Amino acid sequence: MDVFHFEVIQLLIKKQVGMMENYELVIGLEVHVELSTESKLFCGCSTRFGAEPNTQVCPVCSGMPGTLPVLNKKAVESAVKAASALGCGVEEVSIFARKNYFYPDLPKNYQISQYERPIASDGFLMLDGRKIRIKRVHMEEDAGKLIHSAGESGPSYVDLNRSGIPLIEIVTEPDLKSSSEAETFLNNLKRILEYLEISDCNMEEGSLRCDANISVRPRGESRLGVKTEIKNMNSFKAVRKAIDYEAARQVSILSKNGRISQETRLWNESIQVTEGMRSKEEAHDYRYFPDPDLMPVYVTGQMCREITESIGELPLERKERFVREYGLSEYDASSLTSRKKVADYYEKVVSGKINPKAAANWIMGDLMALLKEHKTEIDSSPVLPGYMAELLSFTEDGRITGTTAKDVLSECFATGICPGDIVREKNLLQINDQDLITGTIREVLENNGKAVADYRNGREQAVGFLVGQIMRKTGGKANPAIVRDTLLKALKEM
Ligand code: ADP
Ligand code: MG
Ligand code: ZN
Repeated sequence: MDVFHFEVIQLLIKKQVGMMENYELVIGLEVHVELSTESKLFCGCSTRFGAEPNTQVCPVCSGMPGTLPVLNKKAVESAVKAASALGCGVEEVSIFARKNYFYPDLPKNYQISQYERPIASDGFLMLDGRKIRIKRVHMEEDAGKLIHSAGESGPSYVDLNRSGIPLIEIVTEPDLKSSSEAETFLNNLKRILEYLEISDCNMEEGSLRCDANISVRPRGESRLGVKTEIKNMNSFKAVRKAIDYEAARQVSILSKNGRISQETRLWNESIQVTEGMRSKEEAHDYRYFPDPDLMPVYVTGQMCREITESIGELPLERKERFVREYGLSEYDASSLTSRKKVADYYEKVVSGKINPKAAANWIMGDLMALLKEHKTEIDSSPVLPGYMAELLSFTEDGRITGTTAKDVLSECFATGICPGDIVREKNLLQINDQDLITGTIREVLENNGKAVADYRNGREQAVGFLVGQIMRKTGGKANPAIVRDTLLKALKEM
């Protein structure tokens, strides 16, 4: 572990005051995104996640001599989609190069990537009204995966199922200023890619990976400081923590007149520190050169236009429309549109002329809780959008009470039976019958002398208790407004 470790920890703790204040943080991200195409970038092998090791491999992606790569058109289209959504200029001609290095997960001893001529460059992503510039978007193939046995001396295994899966790498300019900004950037980027339906963006399965470049400089200084590159973070939270740690480490060095060495560092999740991996001197010289087995990639203006036009509404636009069209708050609109599936579900529900605010509350509240509890995604919810709309129309016109609606929702979730049938079969219609309610109230008042006495002594809470008793007696079906009115009248008359 670093000798600086304890000082760094102290700085992290005192971050709000003192030394950190004198420095500003500069961050640039490199994000790798696995494209969810059916087949790999240069061969027909499946890209499905979770298969038995080395069952999705062929001579091309296992690097056999004499094989030739054939480019996957779908992957190019996905890359163009991402580039357009990020406001990048898409190149008519881009070139695949060989990035040469030796590693056991790389059977060809080179990775096919784009280097001098990437497919797109110069875009941006909006972050709280500010443009974070995107330097480039390029295509490349993924490497295989090493599986190390536990302990020091066991063997390591190579799984080539991932070898050759298409990736895009998105590189930002050093425009991010804090760890939380970096985290928000990643969240927004993830939303966009999910909306484009070009990647699962699942960090646990490795379909989204991020390296962070970090430097610090004295406040007011215009030149950039020496950067380090942090790898090996496997969640957005880890990215945030690694950046905070690394910034504090750099500040603790600089404030003692030390120098930052340009290096690649690894985030060690178990002890929450960054550790040196290789210095600039040891940095690879990849000896890039154009891959002679592949033609340049041509994306005609026509093709680019067609792809761009196929992009639907993006998360930010959709959020703004939700505010405009449904009169939702920024907060509700943002939660509903942060995932495309949820927004789609919501729009199906409100298309049935349902109060948009009520629908938002029920979906983000009760439905989400049920989905979470049963580890179900909203697009496979047993409560279909039409069922949700039916349930909400029942509460809106007063046919059932809010309490009943909650029960019906759970029942519908558990059984998949539509709310209308549940209400009919279980006889759950709201009780609006004045005589019936008055009768129940009389009974409850007779049996709860203490609560009545409390009320007379000015204890308002007694009303709530009595309403609760009445609702219980009617199985939650009595109209709460009528119950309250009638109860108050009865109490006054006593
Ligand atoms: P390299 O040649 O070392 O790979 P690049 O210019 O390609 O560097 O940039 C890689 C990433 O590092 C980009 O995301 C860029 O924004 C970021 N970056 C470059 N310089 C700095 C710096 N001084 N501080 C923080 N990030 C930086
Ligand atoms: Mg780089
Ligand atoms: Zn293959």
